[in-house]
Amino acid sequence: MESYEFHPRLVHRTARVRLRVTRHQADRCFGLLRSAGDLWAWLLDTNRERLVQGAAPIVGYQALCRELTARGPAGELSVVGARSVLARYSDSWFAAAKRRRKGEPAGFPRRKRLLVPVRFHHQTFQLDGRRVRLPVARGRPALWVRTARPIPYPADRIRAVTLVADCGQLWLAVTAAVPIHHHDLDPRQVAGVDLGIIHPYAVVAEHAALLVSGRAIRAESFLHLRDQQARQAKTARRAPKPGQHGSRRWRRYRARLRRVEARHRRRVHQAHHQAASQVVAFAVRQRIGVLVIGDPTGITTHDAGRVHNRRLRQWRRTHLVQALSDKAEQAGIDVRRVDERGTSSTCPACRRRVPKPSGRRFRCLACTFQGHRDLVGAANIAATLGGGTTSATLPTLVEHRRAGIVPARRDRRRHLHDQRRRRSCPASGHPDGHKGSSGCHSPHATTDPASDEDQATRRNTANVA
Ligand SMILES: [Zn+2]
Repeated sequence: MESYEFHPRLVHRTARVRLRVTRHQADRCFGLLRSAGDLWAWLLDTNRERLVQGAAPIVGYQALCRELTARGPAGELSVVGARSVLARYSDSWFAAAKRRRKGEPAGFPRRKRLLVPVRFHHQTFQLDGRRVRLPVARGRPALWVRTARPIPYPADRIRAVTLVADCGQLWLAVTAAVPIHHHDLDPRQVAGVDLGIIHPYAVVAEHAALLVSGRAIRAESFLHLRDQQARQAKTARRAPKPGQHGSRRWRRYRARLRRVEARHRRRVHQAHHQAASQVVAFAVRQRIGVLVIGDPTGITTHDAGRVHNRRLRQWRRTHLVQALSDKAEQAGIDVRRVDERGTSSTCPACRRRVPKPSGRRFRCLACTFQGHRDLVGAANIAATLGGGTTSATLPTLVEHRRAGIVPARRDRRRHLHDQRRRRSCPASGHPDGHKGSSGCHSPHATTDPASDEDQATRRNTANVA
């Protein structure tokens, strides 16, 4: 810890903190975001007009600032807030230009938005514990807001805060410059990381291995999918026809849909972050200096069937890679990415190709090697950089960890889940389940005469099939 005085290498990390605001504060915050949206739209319109007249667009930050001064104030938005919108525009324009020069497809900013995030850099906002004062236009009353949880960075490390609206809720994205920790790591120790759906991370080092279970993430995704399907089935006929204006009720429904979607996304991302922290903690314990991540880029280029296509696209593998590399970098671990193709279907002992196992168990047909499929993948990934196990067997010491929170039994979406699947113990409060049963019983207990007739017959047919 104390060694960072000598290695003042910093990385920037951003955490999102929910804002707890009164209605009046919320109105003012949304006012700021709306003003930023107006400013954004004005930028787009200005440059479109210039394009029509054959003039070059104004994209440099300095030039935009001059234009802004000529335009005048933007609602309650302070000069700092307004300039952050200009910086956002300028940055995205130059980012698009850079990608275009490299021949990659990229579009210049052209979409108007109702709400645009406003960023306030260091020394323009004020922190007082959980309270934050956001700058507003001169002459307006001070705007103080409260964060729903403590800001996870020390106050002197915070560099910027960004006011964001996500599905009707206000958030503060807090960016801090945090020092890289210097753990006692061995740069010759290389570990491989295999990304997966069943196990978000499988890590193999020389002497030990780690498997992080993604059961909670899968349960959450499953319930979310069932919930959305049920919702769609019920509301599809009420949807406005193309060209028709949605009713107020429909708009409320859409807003609800987006909130549910956002909550699901947050839960999955949170679980990914937990899993990544566990991998980094394991790596620090094992003194691993280099983490090799098997990059699954291009996994969606071929058609894998209706169900599996959806599964792969909802896996959020980019977030998995990003969460792990961010945390590893902060812990001083070197992160490399390699192509993961074929790593889970190659025998680590005799290097022969094996048909991809359908279950979790990897069996080599040529030699007698057996092992966990995800750990085999991780061992092969480590071997691409000369790391991983030195012997022909996987490490016998395998740590198991879990990530995320399994949806609660009283989760409203559980009923849909129970309807679709034969459950030995339906969630409590189930419409045609066990009245008064709250806990989980043994399978024998479900055959009591009080159980629903329909349930019992369904169970029997399922047993036969
Ligand atoms: Zn083999």
